[in-house]
Amino acid sequence: MSTKPTDVGAVDSPAPSSKQAALTDAEVQKIRSEFPCLQLHRHGKRLVYLDNAATTQKPRAVIEALSRYYEGQNANVHRGVHYLSALATELYESARKRIKEFLGAHLVCEIIFTRGATEGINLVAQTFGRQHVGPGDEILVSEMEHHSNIVPWQMLCEEKGANLRVIPINDRGELLMDQYEAMLTDRTRLVSIVHVSNALGTINPVRQIIQIAHGRGIPVLVDGAQSAPHMAINVAELGCDFFVCSGHKMMGPTGIGVLYGRAELLESMPPWHGGGDMILSVTFEKTIYNGIPQKFEAGTPHIEGVIGLGEAINYLQNLGMPRIQAYEAQLLDHGTRVLEAIDGLKIIGTAREKAGVLSFIMDHAHPHDIGQLLDEEGIAIRAGHHCAQPVMQRFQIPATARASLAFYNTREELDLLGEAILKVKKVFG
Ligand code: PLP
Repeated sequence: MSTKPTDVGAVDSPAPSSKQAALTDAEVQKIRSEFPCLQLHRHGKRLVYLDNAATTQKPRAVIEALSRYYEGQNANVHRGVHYLSALATELYESARKRIKEFLGAHLVCEIIFTRGATEGINLVAQTFGRQHVGPGDEILVSEMEHHSNIVPWQMLCEEKGANLRVIPINDRGELLMDQYEAMLTDRTRLVSIVHVSNALGTINPVRQIIQIAHGRGIPVLVDGAQSAPHMAINVAELGCDFFVCSGHKMMGPTGIGVLYGRAELLESMPPWHGGGDMILSVTFEKTIYNGIPQKFEAGTPHIEGVIGLGEAINYLQNLGMPRIQAYEAQLLDHGTRVLEAIDGLKIIGTAREKAGVLSFIMDHAHPHDIGQLLDEEGIAIRAGHHCAQPVMQRFQIPATARASLAFYNTREELDLLGEAILKVKKVFG
């Protein structure tokens, strides 16, 4: 399909955080002292960690929750009658309640634990998708998706003879909403859209996207891998049907994530993995499945991951998501000014509604060389296609260098980034 845009990109309604007081510099200094990895040095310099879209660092509270679990709470959940099992189950299920509040879901049973955003999307593709998508049907994604919101749908489309359709973006990296609306047909079975692009930083107007799709009876999955760590989410208010996120990008452990699904949909979906915990009874003739959320959590879960994620959510909530968002917006403004002042540097992704991602290219220097030279200055960024190759194709570039922000970063770190890039410039001319 053609992806030549007319320039009428989407702008989100003003961020609710704009009225909230940002974290103060003094608070950020205290926060930094709570993250052991932020105290590391590289080449004799204090580490400047600007690879937060890949994964965030973990506060001591999360690390301690993990050791506490293994040192005094370790047992399998749901099945035991003994003290430790009851304790582990209580911790596991109370983390689910905390996450339900954090995401603004109506019901605790709407929170399914997965390995991450990727697994959440695959779960929906393999259950809801297989159930509802047939030959000639369509699934809509955008040109700025992470591979994990492309490939599971391609696999489903291949299996079912369905078509994956792609909403184009403009040169700023904003969705073309008029084209989106025009692409919805009576064959569209699902819209699966990223909330915040990891490659461009664009914040998509998901509320509007959902309203338009729902107006035609089409469900919407929101990939919140890059939004849940940086802004307040309320899935019930947004009205999305599914929402996925990853614990490791929100100060929590790796290998744990969340799929939110509207209870009515989850109940009507077939299970995905079979095994222990997802059943009520099994005979060789017939198995009766458990209710939600257990129906989608076969086998022994990532118990310490869930507990650690609960602790991370607690940490984020204590800081306050609106205050985090307001502070990160200030950081983004500062970082954008620093980069824009560098001759020969071009920022890729200049959406009017943007989160803390600074993707850029430079004359004469390949992004990988930029990344390597910045590493020598103690600055960790990412270089590559960021698992979003279609974005690179859209901008006709092989890769970008990407600095991505979190609430523990500072303006001084972004100044150091600017100074280090000037050194890179000297090397490459
Ligand atoms: N979606 C987006 C927008 C992402 O940035 C990422 C990871 O970078 C993912 C999905 C996949 O997350 P995970 O690898 O944690 O499953």
